[in-house]
Formats: sequence, structure tokens, C-alpha cells
Amino acid sequence: MSTLDIRDLHVSVETENGPVQILHGVNLTVRSGETHAIMGPNGSGKSTLAYALAGHPKYTVTSGSVKLDDEDVLEMSVDERARAGLFLAMQYPVEVPGVSVSNFLRTAKTAIDGEAPKLRTWVKDVKGAMDELRIDPDFAERDLNTGFSGGEKKRHEILQLELLKPSFAVLDETDSGLDIDALRIVSDGVNRFTSSGDKGVMLITHYTRILRYITPDFVHVFVGGKIAEEGGAELAEKLEEKGYVDYVGASA
Ligand code: ADP
Ligand code: MG
Ligand code: MG
Repeated sequence: MSTLDIRDLHVSVETENGPVQILHGVNLTVRSGETHAIMGPNGSGKSTLAYALAGHPKYTVTSGSVKLDDEDVLEMSVDERARAGLFLAMQYPVEVPGVSVSNFLRTAKTAIDGEAPKLRTWVKDVKGAMDELRIDPDFAERDLNTGFSGGEKKRHEILQLELLKPSFAVLDETDSGLDIDALRIVSDGVNRFTSSGDKGVMLITHYTRILRYITPDFVHVFVGGKIAEEGGAELAEKLEEKGYVDYVGASA
């Protein structure tokens, strides 16, 4: 069992006009076995949190800490974060012509585990995971992220979760751009991932609809770069009814 602990995190982003402070002191603790929904209006800093955790070079942690058990995540390279068990979907958002999905997955698995997966079981695992996600077999030979539709990118994220088996996953807007069937397939994938009971998930979403399929243990409402309210799954139901109107004043 392990704990991802975010303490008083302040993050600025590099813009054309210099750095702009976006996160103003985020406190969040995710333990193995817990699913946390991070919700909030557009522009509230949800993706900024995800990028900061991923170690994106444009996002600077100006103060605060991120610890995975005793380890300082902010001191780790992007690769070290992955090896430590963190899965940050936006780590590999780029299109990589010449690298197939299948090659990428095998290389990532080898890097994370420190040894190449056994070919026969690996091929079976990939095929099984792709079947569950209703991904066309040809997809494995496509160039990484090149010309992927929104839905394909999201399914590819979940495919990575199933195969790379991280301990903590940060999923940013995994529900955006999915039709109802795809939403269900992706949600089922997340639920299979958490069913082992030892995974921590931060599910970042603007809309409540994915939470009809994935029940969070905790809901955090982001407003203006901070957590404005926290609760259990019932908080998502309240947001479904009322939206973010109660919080809008706080974001000014
Ligand atoms: P959310 O994911 O909640 O919609 P973001 O973290 O994407 O919010 O954005 C938070 C704020 O930071 C917004 O005001 C956005 O314009 C600003 N921001 C984020 N990334 C950048 C960037 N790369 N350049 C300029 N502004 C940015
Ligand atoms: Mg659980
Ligand atoms: Mg976002």
C-alpha cells in the first residue's frame, strides 16, 4: 500500500508574457485503493495539476511538495516517475511517427519493469486488453497518436493502464469527446483497473456523467487553482444538479 501526498502545491505556467501562477496551494492525499474525482469549472487548474505531476517542462512548482511514500516525486525525471508507479496520461501526448502502438507499449513495459515482457504472454495480454476495449487489432500497428481520434486516444490511455499496471493513475478528461458506448467501455476499463483494490486513481473531469459509471470514494472541487470543497460521491450528485454556480464567486 502506498500514498501519493500533494502538499500546499503552487504551480506557475510559462506563457508568452512570462510565468503566471495557476495553482495556489493544493492539498490532496490519494492512497492505494482510492478513486478521487477532481472536478471543477474550465480553467480552474485541473490540467495544470496533472501536468505538474507529470513533470511537464512548461509547468513550474514554485512551492509545496509531492511525495510518493518517502520519495520526492518532484525530484524525479519523467521516466523515474513512471518507474515509481505513476501513470500520467499526458506524459506521452505527442504524435510519434515511426513508432507503432505495439512497439511503444512493449518499450514502456520494458522500461517500467526493468526487463522485457515474455513475448508469448505479452502478445496474449495485449490482444486481451484490446478486445476488452473493443480496439481494432490494426490499431496496434498504427503510429503512436498519429491521427488518433479523441476516442482512440482515450482508449489507448486505458490500454496502457491495463498493460503497464501502474500504482497511481492520473486521468485527465478521460470522458471528453466520448459517445455513450465509448464512455461505458472506457469506464469499464477504469473499473477493471481499480478492481484489484490496490490502485489509486485521480479522475479529472469537468462533467459528472462519467461518475455514473465510476463511483469515486472522494470528490474534490477545484476553483481558481485551489480545492474549494471536498466530499464523497454525493458531492458529485449535488454538482450534477446545481453545476458550479455556488463556487463561481470564489474563482474571481
Ligand atoms: P482546467 O484543466 O481546469 O480547465 P487548466 O489547468 O487547463 O484548467 O488552466 C488553468 C488556467 O491556466 C487557465 O486560466 C489557463 O488559461 C491557464 N493556462 C494553463 N496552461 C497554460 C499555458 N500553457 N499557457 C497559458 N495559460 C495557461
Ligand atoms: Mg475503491
Ligand atoms: Mg483541463
